[in-house]
Amino acid sequence: MKKEKPGLNTICTHVGEVHDEQFKGAISPIYMSTSYAFEDVEKKRYPRYFNTPNQDMLGKKIAALEGAEAGMIFGSGMAAVSTALLSFLKHGDHVVLQKTLYGGTFNLVEEEFERFGIQYSFTDGLDENSFEKAIKENTKVIYIETPSNPLLTITGLEMVAQLGKKHKIITMIDNTFASPVNQNPIAHGIDIVIHSATKYMGGHSDITAGAIACTQEHMDVIWNKSKNLGGSLADFMVWMLERSLKTLGLRVKAQNENARKLAKWLEKNEHVKHVYYPGLESHPDHQLAKSQMSGYGGMLSFELNDSLDADQFQKELKLIKSSMSLAGVESTILSPAKTSHSLMSPEERKNQKISDGLLRFSVGIEDKKDLIADLEQALAAVTEQHLIK
Ligand SMILES: *Cc1c(COP(=O)(O)O)cnc(C)c1O
Repeated sequence: MKKEKPGLNTICTHVGEVHDEQFKGAISPIYMSTSYAFEDVEKKRYPRYFNTPNQDMLGKKIAALEGAEAGMIFGSGMAAVSTALLSFLKHGDHVVLQKTLYGGTFNLVEEEFERFGIQYSFTDGLDENSFEKAIKENTKVIYIETPSNPLLTITGLEMVAQLGKKHKIITMIDNTFASPVNQNPIAHGIDIVIHSATKYMGGHSDITAGAIACTQEHMDVIWNKSKNLGGSLADFMVWMLERSLKTLGLRVKAQNENARKLAKWLEKNEHVKHVYYPGLESHPDHQLAKSQMSGYGGMLSFELNDSLDADQFQKELKLIKSSMSLAGVESTILSPAKTSHSLMSPEERKNQKISDGLLRFSVGIEDKKDLIADLEQALAAVTEQHLIK
């Protein structure tokens, strides 16, 4: 029988299981030990060396999900982001970053890189020319995030990968918003894939973790730095993450489907001014998204008509909760201008088209009819108030 690559849900359920040789239990046992016998000089197991049995094995699941040679788990998304960047950047090097980035990554660069003597440039836009003109003699890394937060802009994976190859620059992506279910950047030539596993990989708003997938050669470099930087994840949480990943394929596909239907519903609604969702034909990068994503994700953003009070709308929602984080099985909503992007100056927000009325919607797995009913009743409440005023 020909050995075929297992499908997504089989990878989610089985790849990287720790086998319980002693009792033959159905699920991976947790190895909480911080001390292991010296098996040989090559492999000294220690939690901060990222190589306990649970860490090692879950790395294999991450690698399989991303179609990579190697995978590693971190204590948070930012531990993965900072370790990846600091593994390949040193004093005197330069990094090109796309202009729309997760706030924590932006802060890491703006607040820390100067002290380390690492130079950086943000691109003006997301097209090839914007990236190419930001590249310098000493550029060592190009860093992107697609789809981006909160406007779901799309950056061309192959365009960036080719620029990297042409200039011999390592390319990195924060693939959190897409999740490995919807986008596998390594297949498009990107070198290093980073996730905040706090989001879709965890999926239940109860785990903080990060992950990296890449070639073994790049991983060796990252592993060498990671044990100095110390951002490992405790084994109990590694086990929790393994458990969550078993349903990643099912969850994310349900979220894709809900988000696509809700985006269409919102787009048709007379009280909604604009919907940002890469799966909509009206999205300026829909074709690009289609060429590199297998699903469009569970995140969307929208603006109500200017006359309506977006704050009040959020308060009127009953099922959809106002909440900071994203990607859980429960639907959540937030105002980027008031939360995730509040530290940005109003001019910078305007420049990035993040209006005060913009709402970012993380679509969960609830039944579509209940989500629509909630949106409808909240819209009715704010339109009525508008009429009374
Ligand atoms: C949340 C997030 C991060 C940071 O992850 P933490 O687990 O909070 O450290 C990085 N990138 C993106 C796109 C995120 O949404």
